[in-house]
Amino acid sequence: MIKTRFAPSPTGRMHVGNLRTALYSYLIARHENGSFMLRIEDTDQERFVEGALDIIYDTLREAGLHHDEGPDIDGGVGPYVQSERCRMGIYRKYAEELIKKGAAYYCFCTKERLESLKQEGSEEEYGRYDKHCLSLTPEEVEEKLKSGIPYVIRLNVPEEGTTSFHDEIYGDITVDNSELDDMILIKSDGFPTYNFANVVDDHLMGITHVVRGNEYLSSSPKYNILYHAFGWEVPVYVHCPLITDENHKKLSKRSGHSSFGDLIDQGFLPEAVVNFVALLGWSPADNSEIKSLAELEAEFDYRRIGKSPAVFDVNKLRWMNGEYIKAMDDARFEELAAPYIHEYVADESRIPAVCAMVKSRIEVLPDIAGQIDFLKAVPDYEVSLYKHKKMKTDEALSREVLKKVIPVLEAAEDFSNDALYQTLLAFAAEAGLKNGQVMWPIRTALSGKAMTPGGATQLLEVIGREESLRRLHAAVAKLSAEAG
Ligand code: GLU
Repeated sequence: MIKTRFAPSPTGRMHVGNLRTALYSYLIARHENGSFMLRIEDTDQERFVEGALDIIYDTLREAGLHHDEGPDIDGGVGPYVQSERCRMGIYRKYAEELIKKGAAYYCFCTKERLESLKQEGSEEEYGRYDKHCLSLTPEEVEEKLKSGIPYVIRLNVPEEGTTSFHDEIYGDITVDNSELDDMILIKSDGFPTYNFANVVDDHLMGITHVVRGNEYLSSSPKYNILYHAFGWEVPVYVHCPLITDENHKKLSKRSGHSSFGDLIDQGFLPEAVVNFVALLGWSPADNSEIKSLAELEAEFDYRRIGKSPAVFDVNKLRWMNGEYIKAMDDARFEELAAPYIHEYVADESRIPAVCAMVKSRIEVLPDIAGQIDFLKAVPDYEVSLYKHKKMKTDEALSREVLKKVIPVLEAAEDFSNDALYQTLLAFAAEAGLKNGQVMWPIRTALSGKAMTPGGATQLLEVIGREESLRRLHAAVAKLSAEAG
């Protein structure tokens, strides 16, 4: 059975890249009726951020990526938090096993020595450790350990030969061992490095498919050396392509929309974000873009993940979010939109009508403000707004029409959109006017805007009889004043 994991480090924000890793891991598992696990990788204590665990749990929940096991759901291979595993001595035990096999060794070199190695090192050796401590005798090691000299444990990479590995996306990759560093497995603070802990844990926890960003691709040969040294089976690797911003630079905090939290704060819906993120590097066989999570689960074939960088196009996300809003049922839309409407519409009973007006016209919920700000007060506007070629009207005609239409509206019994529409059509016909010659001045008088989310009668209903008439009178006064 397939088993995948999401293994975030609690460092704060949920970067879009991390969310994609979580999503792809989840989808690979669900697609094959496998299992999806959550592991917390908190061995880098310096990077730990308070509250980051909540962000991880909240994001997975909001995105609908339910895990089958993890710190909060025991699946029998816990603990699922690496610092707890560390305290139990799990990593040390495995590091010592490697030392016994000659695949790892203690290193007591000081920071200063390592620094000077870097400075002196020839170009190609730059930054690589020179295996100095590998030549210590067992007795020397024993003595140094006893006297409490700080140490790390390093992988003993063979100096000759090559290491190959297979990645499902990037294919077969072979590197010369001489290019690989004797990476640190256990740090001087006793914690394992990511490089060591991920291998030990993925094996002990039965992970079959490792999904992660391609920044880990170049380290994968070293992981394979570890798997081979232990005699463990290497998992299937799925490294995902880079995500860039619109300028083809690595998506970073500076873009303003690089984390799940940023996107939610900007009014994007979790389901639209999930759909969008699924397409950052993967494409469905049918090329249709709107896919629910259930559809993604059914269709996700990781072999269709691409190698080339995926561009985060925020306009595409906006479009997609708009599609999700249009498809949403009205009750949910009202619930989500109400907080954005309250500022402009005090009367609670008008909210459904406002929602009906804006639902198909926005891409994100905060767009609502720009659509309905005039409901609160008519902005200052130029009377030239009444001039409209296509509607065959201008300031003078508008003023005449408004004057005549006010008593009709005052007398209207039913002030609903549909009834008013019929009333005004009848009025236009009787007065020998085109519909636009009646509707345009009303809409302008009520909104002070050339573009509104609804037509004249919709606005009348939403604004209500009393305030509408007040606005129409004010418009006549304004037109009269301008006409002199
Ligand atoms: N803890 C690593 C990170 O957050 C996980 C990488 C992996 O998935 O193996 O980047």
